[in-house]
Amino acid sequence: MPVVRLLPPDVVSRIAAGEVIDRPASVLKELIENSLDAGAARIAVETLGAGRELLRIADDGRGMEPADCRSAFERHATSKIADFSDLDSLCTFGFRGEALFAVAAVSKVTLTSRAAGSRKGWRVELRGGRLVSEREAPPSEGTVIEVRDLFFNTPARAKFLKSDASERSHLARVVEEAALANPGVSFSLKSEGRGVLRFDSHAAGGAAEALRLRACEVLGPELGRGMLAAEAKTDGVELLALLSAADSLQATRSLQYVLVNRRPVANRTVQQALYRAYEPFRAKNRHPAAVLCLTVPPDQVDVNVHPTKREVRFRKEQALYELIARAASRTLLTAKGIPTLLPQAGRGSLPPARQPEFPAPRLHEAAHAYAPAFHTASGGARPAAPERPREEAGWFPQSLRYLGQIERSYLAFENDGGLLVVDQHAAQERVLFEKYLGQILSGEVPVQDLLLPIPVELPASAVHSLLGLRKRLKKIGFSVEPFGKSLQVLSVPAVFQKSADVKDVVHGLLEGLLSPAAAAADARYDATATIACKASVKAHDSLSPAEAVELLASLRRCADPSCCPHGRPTMLNLDRAELARRFKRSGAPPL
Ligand code: ADP
Ligand code: MG
Repeated sequence: MPVVRLLPPDVVSRIAAGEVIDRPASVLKELIENSLDAGAARIAVETLGAGRELLRIADDGRGMEPADCRSAFERHATSKIADFSDLDSLCTFGFRGEALFAVAAVSKVTLTSRAAGSRKGWRVELRGGRLVSEREAPPSEGTVIEVRDLFFNTPARAKFLKSDASERSHLARVVEEAALANPGVSFSLKSEGRGVLRFDSHAAGGAAEALRLRACEVLGPELGRGMLAAEAKTDGVELLALLSAADSLQATRSLQYVLVNRRPVANRTVQQALYRAYEPFRAKNRHPAAVLCLTVPPDQVDVNVHPTKREVRFRKEQALYELIARAASRTLLTAKGIPTLLPQAGRGSLPPARQPEFPAPRLHEAAHAYAPAFHTASGGARPAAPERPREEAGWFPQSLRYLGQIERSYLAFENDGGLLVVDQHAAQERVLFEKYLGQILSGEVPVQDLLLPIPVELPASAVHSLLGLRKRLKKIGFSVEPFGKSLQVLSVPAVFQKSADVKDVVHGLLEGLLSPAAAAADARYDATATIACKASVKAHDSLSPAEAVELLASLRRCADPSCCPHGRPTMLNLDRAELARRFKRSGAPPL
């Protein structure tokens, strides 16, 4: 007796529906996407019984011809793609032709539509996926879909629904996400006969302005207004974001919205990048509110990896991570007023003749440029340094003076009558990072052979991945080889030779390279991952005055001296005016 048989079509369709439609909110998401795809400028939603009894979506989009009203409910019926290659240039939300089929399979649906330009309206009615009637209807604008008695024929699924309150909150979230992603479209949500949400269209102004107005509606005016805007762009990828300021983090994670090509998604890489930027400021259990809108060329993102398209995959994951982490980090630091060492206009500024080359001259400045003004707080002798012609150091702060070390962690300088505090560990990380990155990019990383190879204990899976990365490791100065069941390290980059503990470096490196964000090989990433381990001066190292000055000088030569590779600030400045203000003086004392 054969035991394998084909399932009847109505069973197949209910099983298939389960992948796309698992609760009222997923119906709503699909139907809103269809309205947006139809070019709607206005979308009105009404629900009864938390969406179980009725979900009604009315739009003013381009509508459908009678024949399409019928065929839209067939499986894999779509107007959006014709063949597989169209997926690479996809600009619509839908493409599988599955949503209406799936919704209809598990509910009682009525669709009324009028195609733009037509004088006739059409209405079709389905029950459990079967057409029960179709006829002409009064011509109204766009399309109205009513979904009743959701899961009436799949009672098992109905049992998985949560409380009304929970399902309602999911419904509202769907509208909020769609609204944030489409500030030009107006949305309304009525629940159990009561108006719950109403977002007017924000078409005027730029995208950033429209997003802020919409965020004020969705997140509330206070939160929305206080958020910082960040914009960035690389390789065709664009980021537009609104972010909590570093000092107004929330007790909930739920105020984060990630929109990729206007599609609300959950993505680990994006979330990790966001949290990386907040790392220096974030206490446990506090979270940023954020609206991250990414525009990615369609061929660089795969939305076809999850039935509900809630997950996406990026082709250049690492570049995206960098883009978000850097833009967010920069925005947060700038808002906090973290200074760089760049002189203010006026005193100590670059002589006019050299200004056009700026900032190139910074790259050639040497430690001893600080020396003429150098002495210790106690007035002790300054280290020997060759006298430099005055004008070479012309655009440096003239009176940068080392005052001393605090807690063997911070270096204090007087800076043009103000106080400059440097985090020595963050500064050292930045300096090492740029040096090392430069070496990696030039393809010449000086290495240091270890006197004794260092064995590293790791689980077999990690050993395999790392041995697979051997070439890449070599390029960044590490050589590893199998050692028993584990592996050992034979050489490390010379930049780490002063490092207290090579094993730490190696462990940090392994952890970095095996993290999900490391999937894409990228010099910047490799350098960051490697530096992530505490290879540099540890906080609590004591530095001699000469070393402190040397460190600051090296920091100055960095392309991005204001923060460490992980985005922690390297320095804080209280300038003359700020000091005077804090002491409530009428003005800064003359220098
Ligand atoms: P997909 O969106 O993947 O194409 P759907 O099952 O969601 O599949 O929809 C099938 C088709 O029905 C769409 O391709 C579109 O042509 C049409 N359609 C659905 N909803 C609407 C709407 N609100 N306005 C106009 N056309 C619609
Ligand atoms: Mg669709």
